[in-house]
Amino acid sequence: MIEVKNVTKKYGSFTAIDNISFKIEEGEIVGLLGPNGAGKSTTMNMITGFIEPTEGEILIDGYDILKKSKKAKRQIGYMPENVPLYYDLTVKEFVNYMSDLKMVSKKEKKENIKNILEQTNLTNVQNKLIKNLSRGYKQRVSLAEALVGNPKILILDEPTVGLDPKQITEIREYIKSLGKKHTIILSSHILSEVSQICEKVIIINKGKIVAIDTPQNLETKVKEGNQITVTVEDKENRIEKVIKNIKGIKELKFIKDNQDGTKEYIITSDKEIDLRKEIFEQFAKEQITIFELKKTEATLEDAFMKLIENKNEEGEK
Ligand code: ADP
Ligand code: MG
Repeated sequence: MIEVKNVTKKYGSFTAIDNISFKIEEGEIVGLLGPNGAGKSTTMNMITGFIEPTEGEILIDGYDILKKSKKAKRQIGYMPENVPLYYDLTVKEFVNYMSDLKMVSKKEKKENIKNILEQTNLTNVQNKLIKNLSRGYKQRVSLAEALVGNPKILILDEPTVGLDPKQITEIREYIKSLGKKHTIILSSHILSEVSQICEKVIIINKGKIVAIDTPQNLETKVKEGNQITVTVEDKENRIEKVIKNIKGIKELKFIKDNQDGTKEYIITSDKEIDLRKEIFEQFAKEQITIFELKKTEATLEDAFMKLIENKNEEGEK
């Protein structure tokens, strides 16, 4: 459905996007995840044909976005980052105007507009001026704009920025429901958002793709070993010695001193082994009292940070 092939974008001598390639199949909901300045908006602006790549090509449903731009653009609904709306139009006037720009046929227009306003929950404010709407509603108008002409593909650039938590939940649910009928790319710098909505994540940092995978696989990939968090009372500081005698432990890392005199550590072992039983027994033998012992699961947050850190280190070498 969308094919990005060896695309590079330079602004002057600055390389904002550095030779990225990926494919998105019909019906997928894909998250473009990366910190601010990673190149998410630049990528989306190229996919929608707003800016031209310096090198490489982009195909939308087989059509080159630059060479067959009319056919390609017809497939795309775009919600840009900073919702540029016509503030002195009413919601309905605006959607009507956008329908004309997108050349929706006269025959279908009325029905289309009605559907879009219903879908985006804007029917009750359709005669209000856009400038008088709250941020959440403006965001919906922007989504309505993206839906005009019933495009197969929706490109949503940071759709939840500036919304309050309730509005964020609403918009996320709504995007998920749109995923049933559209192929969606949405960008975000918020990891939990992407993992909640998307089936596939493209992690981008400093203009380069650092990973493409499902949220679940990304989590597993970064799990280098099993991690166990222990809180112990260890008055004679025996833990290091004891740990040395347990096979399979890769690292003992001191985390903090607690106020009650206990200490917290993270113990990392090889991937396959679960050492909780062994640790429990050995510690007891040496009179190290365990107050708490639990397995620490690697989160997607860890995966994200790790991927980004690794790439940064490579870049600095
Ligand atoms: P993101 O959307 O991930 O925050 P952007 O795609 O907006 O990132 O920007 C990527 C990089 O390109 C940033 O370093 C940004 O400063 C730079 N950049 C974006 N647009 C321009 C432009 N028109 N001219 C020069 N540099 C730009
Ligand atoms: Mg951006």
